[in-house]
Amino acid sequence: MTGIVIAIDGPAGTGKSTVAREVARRLRLAYFDTGATYRVGTLWCLKEGVDLANADDVANMVATMNVELHLSPDNPRILLDDEDVSQLIRSDTVALTVSKVATNLEARSILGDWQRRVIALERDGGFSDGRGVVAEGRDITTIIAPEADVRVLMTADEEVRVARRAGEGADAATVREAVLGRDRQDATVVEFHTAADGVVTLDTTHLTIEEAVQAVLTLAREAQDEIEGSGEAPA
Ligand code: C5P
Repeated sequence: MTGIVIAIDGPAGTGKSTVAREVARRLRLAYFDTGATYRVGTLWCLKEGVDLANADDVANMVATMNVELHLSPDNPRILLDDEDVSQLIRSDTVALTVSKVATNLEARSILGDWQRRVIALERDGGFSDGRGVVAEGRDITTIIAPEADVRVLMTADEEVRVARRAGEGADAATVREAVLGRDRQDATVVEFHTAADGVVTLDTTHLTIEEAVQAVLTLAREAQDEIEGSGEAPA
């Protein structure tokens, strides 16, 4: 019996982190915010004064950083050299520079391999004891875990996405850039505005968080039934 993998992609401000975390909490799964792996790589480069335009140096930094992930949906944490940087990686500085790491193909490949290992571990053991994982990002449904049991692309109208982030603080221009500018850059290396074959689109423009959570839980139940059904002996 292997655990369930739920992959959720989408641009900033769709509610995907909140929904992914809540689904993980209710199903007692691990919660894997793959954006945090790009953000911590960015923070590490900034701390060490690495030129983010130097693709090789950035890839080297990402390959050698000492990071520990805690996948509990109740208290997700990320440690860099034993320091808890869970808050620091959310700073405007990191949000406005992270695309430089995310568009570095060598860094993407290194971080992607790490993400695949984390997801594989949670299918059989890890934090979730093999119950599985909810992994969210930009390319989880397509590149990192295309075989996931549930694949969802969360979308929402641009203005709604900006407004949701504006509610979290920061000035209007910074928010707009951190949402739409970042998406524009990210979209040069991954497609996360249109669902790939087999990926369910969930437009959250007019949905509450609870409604979006329920939609994903329904898909998870259907997938679980299928997993259990496929294990039965033929009649
Ligand atoms: O989801 P979050 O906003 O924390 O992601 C931060 C950044 O990490 C994104 O803007 C994107 O540049 C990058 N990212 C990515 N692929 C993923 C997850 C995040 O390129 N799977």
